[in-house]
Amino acid sequence: MLSIMDIGLLWTEEVDGEVVAHLREHNFVFGEADAGRGCAIISLARLGLPPAEGKPAAVLFRRRALTEAVHEIGHLLGLGHCPKEDCVMHFSNSLADTDRKSPEFCERCRDQLPVT
Ligand SMILES: [Zn+2]
Ligand SMILES: [Zn+2]
Repeated sequence: MLSIMDIGLLWTEEVDGEVVAHLREHNFVFGEADAGRGCAIISLARLGLPPAEGKPAAVLFRRRALTEAVHEIGHLLGLGHCPKEDCVMHFSNSLADTDRKSPEFCERCRDQLPVT
């Protein structure tokens, strides 16, 4: 059985009441996928903060969670990171990056998916 350790999760810690996941070489992660083993995780710990202007926190939280989940599924389907900032496969180094992305694949990434 696979565990979160199998995809490199090193430790979690509580920061300001939130459990934050850490991976090697990262301060924190929104998610991680191991396409070879067919498993992925996302962390919701940092997706609720801070609320962005003009958007209800719950709506924003769900959109961020969806975006990060689709991103990791994209990795499981063999996609790498995309240079387009609004593509779901763009790397998120901050919540601002996640908020800039769409939860959808750009045309180039969509064309690389093994499903239609
Ligand atoms: Zn990624
Ligand atoms: Zn793309």
